[in-house]
Amino acid sequence: MKFEVAFFDLDDTLYDKQSGLWEAIRQRMSLYMHERLGMSWDIIPTLRRHYFETYGTTLRGLQLHHQVNADDYLAYVHDLPIHEFIQPDPELRQMLITLPLRRFIFTNADRDHARRVLQVLGVEDCFEGIIDVRAIQFYCKPEPQAYQLALQIAQVEHPERCLYLDDSLSNLAAARRMGFYTVWVGQGEPDSQVDLSIREIKELRQKMPTLWDNHREAS
Ligand SMILES: [Mg+2]
Repeated sequence: MKFEVAFFDLDDTLYDKQSGLWEAIRQRMSLYMHERLGMSWDIIPTLRRHYFETYGTTLRGLQLHHQVNADDYLAYVHDLPIHEFIQPDPELRQMLITLPLRRFIFTNADRDHARRVLQVLGVEDCFEGIIDVRAIQFYCKPEPQAYQLALQIAQVEHPERCLYLDDSLSNLAAARRMGFYTVWVGQGEPDSQVDLSIREIKELRQKMPTLWDNHREAS
C-alpha cells in the first residue's frame, strides 16, 4: 500500500503510558473542576467519564455545559514538570526521521503541551506540523469532523494513504471507519478493531519494515 502521511497521537502514544504523565494531566483536570468550578469531589469522576464518553474530551463537556475558557483550562491542566515524567528518546527520533512519510502530530491536547512533550523527547523537528485541539476547531477525536479537518490541514485527499497511530481504540475505530490504516499502540492483546497492534511506538519499524524499505517505489 502506498502511504503518504503518518498521523501520530501524542499522549501515551509517543511515550510510555507507565511514565504517569497522562495520569497526572487527568488529575489536574479533576483539580480544575474542583478548584475553578467549585465542583464537589464526589461528582467529578462520574462527570468526567460522562463528558469523555459523550464528547471525546473533558474540555468539550466543560465548554458546552460550564462555559469554561479553553485557554485557562488547557494552561492549567498541562502545568506540569514534563521532564520529570519523560526523557529524551534517541531511538524514537531515529525511527521518525528515517520514516519516509510526511509526519504530523494529531492530538486532542493543545499545541503548547505537544511542543513541550516533543522537546523533552527530542523529536520536535521530526514533524511537519502539530494538529491540535484548536486546529480542529475544538472538535476532538473520535468526532469525524476532527479527522476531516486533520486531512484538510495535511492536504491529503485519501485517508487510505494515511497511517494513524493512537493508544485509544475508540479514536482508532472512528479513523478506520473513514479509511485510515490504523495502528494501535497498547499493551493488551492485539485488537480486531484496528489494522495493526503494536506494544510500543518503536515496534512500528519491526512490524511494518516495508514503510522504510519501499519508499523509492512508493514515492
Ligand atoms: Mg493518547
